[in-house]
Amino acid sequence: MDCIFCKIISKQIPAKILNETSHSICFLDAFPLANGHALVIPKNHHKKIQDMTSTENSDLFSLVHTMMSKVDSLTGSTLLAIHNGENAGQEVPHVHVHLIPRSKSDSAGPVHSMFDSSLGSSDSEIEKYYNLLKI
Ligand code: AMP
Ligand code: ZN
Repeated sequence: MDCIFCKIISKQIPAKILNETSHSICFLDAFPLANGHALVIPKNHHKKIQDMTSTENSDLFSLVHTMMSKVDSLTGSTLLAIHNGENAGQEVPHVHVHLIPRSKSDSAGPVHSMFDSSLGSSDSEIEKYYNLLKI
């Protein structure tokens, strides 16, 4: 499997590993967007969150919870981001959670700043998607 994150897990390529559990690993991003930018990934190769088993999912978010205390202590605010699929901006096709320290002076903004404008959905569209998604 030609996956850069699988190669980190199998130690074929180096990484600054911060913490590890039975199913997950956390390491520093090699091209950080802020000092302390970390990634948490499952050890098994899965492209999307919903492809993981429930055990892997629990283990991943438990490690996110543990590492968040450390990363958040750097600036007091942290962006937690998952690009779940190529069209969402996922460049490495192996599930990864970004923990990116944020500060008032950085160049990023709130989630709405990622899009040119708000969709302005009608009440019927909101109702349609409510019915499609509710479980
Ligand atoms: P994404 O664009 O959401 O798929 O994020 C992929 C992340 O992996 C980016 O933030 C990259 O900087 C990071 N990355 C790519 N190669 C490596 C590597 N060898 N070690 C650590 N992080 C990496
Ligand atoms: Zn992989």
